[in-house]
Amino acid sequence: MTQVSETPEIEYRNQKGRYPWWVKTVDQITTETDKEQAERPHITKSTALYARHTTREDYETFIQDSPAIGLKYHLGADKMTALWHKQWDRMKRTIEENQPGHTLRDWQFNYATFGSFLSFDVNLDKLTEKTQYVNLVERLGIESWQGSRQEASKTVELVAKSLGATQVGISLVDPQLTYAEAQVPEELKYAITIACDWAPEGIKRMNTPLGDTAVFTAWLRMEKSTWGLKNFIRGLGYQAKILPAPQPAYAVLSGLGELGRTNRLVSPLLGTTMNLLTVATDMPLAIDKPIDFGLQEFCKRCKKCAEHCPVGALSMDNEPSWEPKGEWNNPGKKTYFEDSPKCASYCFRQSSVCAICFAVCPWNKQDKTLLHDVSKVLGAKLPFATKLLVKMDDMFGYGPTKKPDVLEKWWKMDSPLK
Ligand code: SF4
Ligand code: SF4
Repeated sequence: MTQVSETPEIEYRNQKGRYPWWVKTVDQITTETDKEQAERPHITKSTALYARHTTREDYETFIQDSPAIGLKYHLGADKMTALWHKQWDRMKRTIEENQPGHTLRDWQFNYATFGSFLSFDVNLDKLTEKTQYVNLVERLGIESWQGSRQEASKTVELVAKSLGATQVGISLVDPQLTYAEAQVPEELKYAITIACDWAPEGIKRMNTPLGDTAVFTAWLRMEKSTWGLKNFIRGLGYQAKILPAPQPAYAVLSGLGELGRTNRLVSPLLGTTMNLLTVATDMPLAIDKPIDFGLQEFCKRCKKCAEHCPVGALSMDNEPSWEPKGEWNNPGKKTYFEDSPKCASYCFRQSSVCAICFAVCPWNKQDKTLLHDVSKVLGAKLPFATKLLVKMDDMFGYGPTKKPDVLEKWWKMDSPLK
């Protein structure tokens, strides 16, 4: 997938100051792609546990009986029922045993954050339609807002960040990169991809009910920022819709990061621990270029995510490949394809996002100590240093923990998700 730079409406954003000096902007994404092999992705085959990257109408059409319909497609109804039972039994047992990180209080907090974001999500499109507080263009009968593309891009970024987004990247909508089950109006040409990061205290406790709350509350921020952004853009006289598409593709195209061994986005600033959602619009915007911070070479040697995966769902290959692992993968790119049903079954059984592979990635540290920045730069530029840096990362004690005292400390903090 490449940006169509000869298309007349393309104008690139001024990206000065967006990244540290060791992140380069590039004309092509760093993952090799082949349009001939590419197919439109299918949400129903993707094993997404909750199909959030769709419009509400699409959701109603194909996600009626179970939120995990993609997983059900691959496993069959009987195995799904067995997984539900395992999930329930595990939750009950851990509560009865009062396991640190899995106590009644921990699980109930998990369900409180999960329930809040699900109920908000269910009504999201209806809310957007019905609760636009003021649409001045319509009410005053005036022309749509007009500004330069640079100004428009700066404006949407400011609005999204003010409402909870951590980062914003802009690219072009590619119809081949939207879910086959959904319709995207042709005039929606611009894709605004929003990243909301997970709280570090949650990342430390990943694969427990407490760790999940970092993901769910990041989704709440996401809902606020995308809902507000859609209302804002519509109020200025343009269209705006959630783009039903695989989100990492748009994050890579818009320069938010590169595709890593997890077959997901790795950002030079946030690593892997974030949620992504894209708003499509017809408002003319300046777009971002993809970036290169040396991740492709780093991932070849690091392998930390794959080594820590409890079910071996990630590739341990030395090189990326063109061969998908199954129909849940989209062909047409050279990457480390994952065994999604294996991963999704494990997450479903655990009743947890798991995300151990994300939490251990050396790039997701939010502290910006000099040593760590230098380490990352060295690792990116001198491939032989990667393994050493990964060892150093382990020594610094990053990544999820099972230590009871750390898990229990959660309830002594003032606000662990801030
Ligand atoms: S989320 Fe967990 S099970 Fe899935 S690939 Fe990552 S580590 Fe493996
Ligand atoms: S853990 Fe290592 S191999 Fe995995 S995505 Fe991060 S940098 Fe790449």
